[in-house]
Amino acid sequence: MAQQLGGQPILILKEGATRSREEEARNNNFAAAKAVASAVRSTLGPKGMDKMLIDSMGDITITNDGVTILKEMDIEHPAAKMMVEIAKTQDNEVGDGTTSAVVIAGELLKNAEGLIAQKVHPTVIAEGYRMAAEKSLEILGGIAIAVKPTDTAMLKNIAGTALTGKNAEVQKDWLCDVVVKAVVSVTDPDGKADLAHINVEKKAGASVDDTELIEGMVIDKERAHPAMPKTVKNARILVLNAALEFKKTEVSATIRISTPGQAQAFLDEEEHMVRAMVDKVVASGASVIFCQKGIDDVAQHFLAKAGILAVRRVKKSDCENLARATGATIVNSIDAITAQDLGTAGLVEERKISGDEMIYVSKCKNPKAVSIVIRGGTEHVVDELERAVHDALMVVSVVIEGKKIVPGGGAPETELSLRLREYAATVGGRAQLAIEAFAAAMEIIPRTLAENAGHDPIDLLVDMRAAHEAGKKTFGINADTGKPADMLRAGVVEPLRVKTQAISSAAEAAVMILRIDDIVASAKAPEPAPGAGGMPPGGMGGMGGMPPGMGGY
Ligand code: ADP
Ligand code: MG
Repeated sequence: MAQQLGGQPILILKEGATRSREEEARNNNFAAAKAVASAVRSTLGPKGMDKMLIDSMGDITITNDGVTILKEMDIEHPAAKMMVEIAKTQDNEVGDGTTSAVVIAGELLKNAEGLIAQKVHPTVIAEGYRMAAEKSLEILGGIAIAVKPTDTAMLKNIAGTALTGKNAEVQKDWLCDVVVKAVVSVTDPDGKADLAHINVEKKAGASVDDTELIEGMVIDKERAHPAMPKTVKNARILVLNAALEFKKTEVSATIRISTPGQAQAFLDEEEHMVRAMVDKVVASGASVIFCQKGIDDVAQHFLAKAGILAVRRVKKSDCENLARATGATIVNSIDAITAQDLGTAGLVEERKISGDEMIYVSKCKNPKAVSIVIRGGTEHVVDELERAVHDALMVVSVVIEGKKIVPGGGAPETELSLRLREYAATVGGRAQLAIEAFAAAMEIIPRTLAENAGHDPIDLLVDMRAAHEAGKKTFGINADTGKPADMLRAGVVEPLRVKTQAISSAAEAAVMILRIDDIVASAKAPEPAPGAGGMPPGGMGGMGGMPPGMGGY
């Protein structure tokens, strides 16, 4: 890269580095970011389509989930990667609205392009966008509706809106019920709903209808020994974080045995020690044991003889949830076990689920941890259902914690669009143009919802504006008719935080991409070109021809 300075070229970058500036840099970034937005656009909304993604190993994912699509796509362009980050942040923070966030960011950039063509400086646009984003949060806060965490009908609507458009829709009512019950069960008295206490297990090989909520825990393990009971009713449960094993010597020791009697004595001693451990467990009154550590053969034998169902090497997180579900206290030493440490469950049983044994700890009284077992015909169905359930669990917990909702179906975006235009007029100057561009970008949501449902987007936008100008703030698109309808009545509602997060992260990303006017890329580390040794650029095609003028001889 050379720059002329007094006729002398000055090299400031290493050989092979590339640099693009101003318009070129911007066009390049805008094109990449818009390409990402248009890749996910067709999946938006209740009538959105699915995508089939095939990774380099040939594994297939079929999904409608924005963040999953973008994670699976092998995206390399830096500006495109920033768009993927929006989706990831959205997913981590609120679990839903990933497609919306990316689509809005793409539209913000598209409208910025229009302004730049009219010679509005990118810094002015960035500033206007920032003002508009801030104002949007205020406007959304104003139209948000308070909801009580005890309003299960509303919570079900929230879950239902997150599930629409996914394959999960067939069993929507049932799934909403499962999701809301699960989140409500794990909500603490101070209103915190930690999804870590909802254990989601998935197994293919049954119908989606067989998806169930277990008031307790499901552990993907089997009994330690086949002679142990498969079913224990009214179980008294010990959750143990200590090994039921004969302690091996810390240093390697050699035991010299010279007579047969000594060998027997050694084994007897081992058996004796393990038996004493098991006796302590039995004395506590436990009928089921979940052990985070190992249980050796001898201990398994004695436990089985005592009629105890024991499971070994249970994950730490599962042990914690087992304690929450059954009311047990995790015991860290065998000597410390008391009857008060035990938890209870109406039923503990080993069930065979499509070829795998699983332990169901169910019928717990007032469990503070629960499980959802997701079923479906094939792996692909189960995986997509799990993603849908994850979104639904997230939005319900977000509402329980935030207690504010907004109507969906493009209602808040239409309202924002109108109110931001009014706001723009009060700002004036060049920033006004940018705020207006931001306002127009909001309409991409109702417009895309209409398009994806097969309706005329222009007709819908006109009707929507009219409805909102007449004060019908909760009107969004009825996906079946393509006409505005009251979304609150229709039960299409979303957490306020899903909208605020989507708009602020979309605006942030758009501003960041807007402000870039120089891309400097270091030379890539040399890769062995797969086509090395092929034709040189330009081809050799002309070489065999006659030199001009030779034909006359
Ligand atoms: P995202 O990844 O952004 O959540 P979705 O495909 O889930 O994308 O679509 C969400 C959009 O669809 C939201 O604007 C939501 O309000 C809207 N929506 C969901 N259900 C309905 C419905 N039954 N009628 C109209 N709009 C709906
Ligand atoms: Mg969604």
